[in-house]
Amino acid sequence: MDKVLTYLHANERRFIDELKDYLRLPTISAQAEHASDMVAGARWVADHCRAMGLQAEVCPTPGHPVVLANTPRRPGKRPRVLIYGHYDVQPPDPLEGWESPPFEPRVVGGRLFARGASDNKGQHFAHLKAVEAYLRTGTELPCDLTFVIEGEEEVGSAHLPEVLRRRRAELTCDCVVISDTGMPSLKLPALTYALRGIAALEIKVTGPNRDLHSGIYGGSVANPAMVLSQLLAGLVNQQGRVTVPGFYAKVKALSAFERRQMGRLPHQDAAYRRFLGAPALFGERGYTSEERRTARPTLEINGLTSGYQGEGSKTIVPSWAGAKLTLRLVPDQSPASIVRLMKAHLRRICPPTVRLEVKAGHGAEPYWVSPEGPLAAAALAALRRGFGREPVLIREGGSIPIVVGFRKILRAESLLLGLALPDANAHSPNESFHLEAFSGGMRMSAHLWAELGQTLARRPASSAS
Ligand SMILES: [Zn+2]
Repeated sequence: MDKVLTYLHANERRFIDELKDYLRLPTISAQAEHASDMVAGARWVADHCRAMGLQAEVCPTPGHPVVLANTPRRPGKRPRVLIYGHYDVQPPDPLEGWESPPFEPRVVGGRLFARGASDNKGQHFAHLKAVEAYLRTGTELPCDLTFVIEGEEEVGSAHLPEVLRRRRAELTCDCVVISDTGMPSLKLPALTYALRGIAALEIKVTGPNRDLHSGIYGGSVANPAMVLSQLLAGLVNQQGRVTVPGFYAKVKALSAFERRQMGRLPHQDAAYRRFLGAPALFGERGYTSEERRTARPTLEINGLTSGYQGEGSKTIVPSWAGAKLTLRLVPDQSPASIVRLMKAHLRRICPPTVRLEVKAGHGAEPYWVSPEGPLAAAALAALRRGFGREPVLIREGGSIPIVVGFRKILRAESLLLGLALPDANAHSPNESFHLEAFSGGMRMSAHLWAELGQTLARRPASSAS
């Protein structure tokens, strides 16, 4: 391991230059005009992997290609780990917001600025360089590794599941490692062990067949905007609890261990409230705001539409009213059953004075891997060694659908070892990657293969953690 770490340290300058080359490619998956840049991006990754000594392949899909790259396979049954990342980036707009051009990387104040620096090129590049260190120093890798670097993460990963299914035999692995989340600070390297899921709904209530004169007809028919407001207002009570029967039935309670871990995060409600600019914080009673925003389910109204929205007044009873809702879900809730509960409840409480339509939108399952299991222990040990700090266990409020894809298709759990700092500006102008997170991430990755190699060799193949 010493040889590997020495190599990482000695070559860090070159790694940063190589990462800059990678960041110069405008691999914007959302924009058709960048289709050839996407192909060039995939080729760049594959060529880079080959130059490091990996066996790499650009795997075409009906969308943007996926790069698969394997470390040289050794005889005998060895633990297998898949490393996921994405070479596509968000559009850089608004361009006026950037202090230097998004695809002309530069280092300022210990941070590398460019679109894709944190999300996600810099993060998976740290893993690539750790593997290079093993290969170039002739140090035996304790696991067989496969990199899966896709080009459609920022547009929904539509074609990755198909690649995983088609190549399942060779992609089968003991676990997946993903660095595409965050760490609270350089002093707090983190393992993210849970993600929330989501269920989206659209509701429309319709009354009269047209907008009506409120003077002539008002008082004789129900106002759909009022009915919708009453329906929605009843869905969450004063204690911040969702009132839909059965909503909490499948919620996995936070363990004392998890609550202690969350309590270690440097969170302060007063500063958090000021940061958000809200007059006061609000949420489910009995939980801290950190617990509410990451480990408890929610029901949010995302948009409301009805009646006249123009200048001045217009005296009508609107014909209809609509709302868009999303529910953030936690283990073991499922989007399909939550949508069913919502539909049944809304039908039950909707008065006969309006017609109700409820449409389900997109959904994603929540994710949870035991923070006290052997895989987590291996990841925490690698974080501790890589960063020289005691790591924290965190949950993320958002969703990463492909994590559930890895579980369903490859039956493998994912370890989320994010290297993006809170000020990384992912998806915003002036995105950056902290170079200390890069070097700590490379060391963490180097230790991770050793830790996982030991842990996985001890357990029967393909058993869940
Ligand atoms: Zn992103």
